[in-house]
Amino acid sequence: MTISWDKIYIVLMKLMDGRKVSKEILLKLKDKVSRMHFDHIHPKLAVILVGKDPASLAYIKQKQKACATTGIEWEQFDYEPSVSTEELIKKIEELNADDKIHGILVQLPLPEKVFAPNVIRAIDPKKDVDGFTAYNLGKMFISTDFEDLAPCTPLGVIRMLEHYEIPIKGQEVVIVGHSNIVGKPLAAMLVNRDATVTVCHIHTKDLASHTKRADILCVAVGKADLITADMVKEGAVVVDIGINKLDDGRLVGDVDFENVSEKASFITPVPGGTGPMTVACLMENTVAAAKRLNNLNP
Ligand code: NAD
Repeated sequence: MTISWDKIYIVLMKLMDGRKVSKEILLKLKDKVSRMHFDHIHPKLAVILVGKDPASLAYIKQKQKACATTGIEWEQFDYEPSVSTEELIKKIEELNADDKIHGILVQLPLPEKVFAPNVIRAIDPKKDVDGFTAYNLGKMFISTDFEDLAPCTPLGVIRMLEHYEIPIKGQEVVIVGHSNIVGKPLAAMLVNRDATVTVCHIHTKDLASHTKRADILCVAVGKADLITADMVKEGAVVVDIGINKLDDGRLVGDVDFENVSEKASFITPVPGGTGPMTVACLMENTVAAAKRLNNLNP
C-alpha cells in the first residue's frame, strides 16, 4: 500500500511529538541543573533494578540517557531476581538517609516474590520521584497546588496537552485503563483541571459508547489496536499511552494509529509520544526534589 504525501503531511500536522517536547524540557532542566551547581547542589538519582527484564533494561537506558543530557547524576543498584523484600527495603533506607541522593526509583515490575507495595512504601516521599507513594498520590488528589511529585506518565500527558495548548477545562475526557500508575492518577489530575472525566477498564460495558463521546481520549491498556477509528469522535485529541511489542519486533500503542489519525485533531505516536514525556517528567521531579531537599523553591 502506498501512502500519499498529502496524507503524511496532514498526519504530521496533527502529531503531538513527545521526542521534541521532551527534548525542550530536558534542555531547560540542564540549564537549571548547571545553575544548581553554583549552590553546590548536584541532583542525583538512585535506581534499583531487579533482574534483567529486557523492557526494564530498555527503560533504564532511556532514563540514564536523560540524566546524562540534563547533568543529573545516576547511581544504579542491580539485584538478582532472588532478592528479598527486606533486602530492598534496607537499601532504600540507606538511600533515604544519604544526603547526596535526591531521587529514588525502583524499576517495576519486581519479581512476584517481592512485595512491591512495601518496597515503594519504604521510599522517603521527598525522594519519591516516580510519585508512587501513598503520601504523594494523596497530596496530588487534593489540588494542582499539591502536585509536588506527581506520577511521571500522567504528568507527561498533562505537559504534552499544555505544550500543544489543548484546553482541558470543561472538556469531556475518557481514560481507558484504571491502573494506579497511569489511569487513576491521570483522572485525578484532569479532574483537578476541571475536565469531566470518565474512567473505563476491562469491566466497562460497551467501551465504544464512552470513547465516542471523548474530546480527549487517553488510552493506557497494553492491547494493540484496541481503539479503532469507529470508536473515536471526529476532531478528538487522542493520547496513546500503551506500549505493545508485536511479533515482528515493532512497537505500537493501543490505538490503530493509521486510521484514527485521519479523524483525530491531535494524536500521539508510539514510539515517540508519551514515552519520552514520562522520562522527561522523571527528570523534572528529580530536579524539583533536589531543590526542595535543599530548601529551594523548585
Ligand atoms: P495495567 O495492566 O496495570 O492496567 C491495564 C488497564 O487496562 C486496567 O485498568 C485494565 O482494566 C484495562 N483493560 C485491560 N483490557 C481492557 C479492555 N479490553 N478494555 C478496556 N480496558 C482494559 O497497565 P499499566 O501499567 O497502566 O500500563 C498500561 C499500558 O501503558 C501498557 O501498555 C504499558 O506498557 C503502558 N505504559 C506506558 C507508559 C509510557 O510512558 N508511555 C508508562 C506506563 C505504562
